[in-house]
Amino acid sequence: APAAGSRGQGATGNQKYPKGIVLGKDGKPCRSCTDAADWIRLARSSNKPGASTTHTTNTNVTTITAPTGQLTTTLSEECPPDVQALGRSAWTFLHTLSANYPKNPTQEEKSDMKQFLGLFGKLYPCWVCAEDFREWMDRPENKLQVGSGGKGGNWLNSRERFGLWMCMAHNAVNTKLGKAEFDCRKWEERWRTGCGV
Ligand code: FAD
Repeated sequence: APAAGSRGQGATGNQKYPKGIVLGKDGKPCRSCTDAADWIRLARSSNKPGASTTHTTNTNVTTITAPTGQLTTTLSEECPPDVQALGRSAWTFLHTLSANYPKNPTQEEKSDMKQFLGLFGKLYPCWVCAEDFREWMDRPENKLQVGSGGKGGNWLNSRERFGLWMCMAHNAVNTKLGKAEFDCRKWEERWRTGCGV
């Protein structure tokens, strides 16, 4: 049986599932942890061999093979989320949360936010994502603290600080995934004041 919580063949040498399939704590493929393209490949490898190499469309899945051979797969918004759709929605929520955080929070508001993010980091459905997020939050320079003092950056002291913290957290994931960093000077425009409306 696959190791509980393992990241699929690449990390474990487990041959049962193709590379890219992330396993959940129960040893079964974890949909919220896996890219839709890998998930669909898995479904097709067991049901319809070869189907993913051509251009196919059905109600929920569109697969396009570019002339370069590169495969793009998109899932309808009515399907359960893959790791990317879940991530986009989660970041929308998290940045909007920081955009609505008070400019001068009370001790209770700081404490609530620290508690919420601690639980978010435990409960986020993509467990590999959650594990790395907790590891990032645990670093001394990123730690959220309610009282003053300590080595942290007083990240909960204002909306400005907290928005920057969230932007840095997101950039840590961007970097891990090989994406470009977002310019954190623009976080508030992107998530609170932008688009001229
Ligand atoms: P997203 O990265 O989701 O960004 C959405 C929008 O946010 C962008 O279009 C941009 O306008 C804006 N944005 C981008 N960067 C920033 C920033 N730094 N600050 C403010 N705004 C920004 N996926 C994995 O495959 N592996 C992981 O380990 C993983 N860990 C994650 C951990 C957490 C806590 C979360 C919430 C998500 C994680 N994800 C992970 C999902 C991943 O971060 C992306 O959401 C997903 O890959 C989709 O990316 P995207 O390019 O569509 O845009």
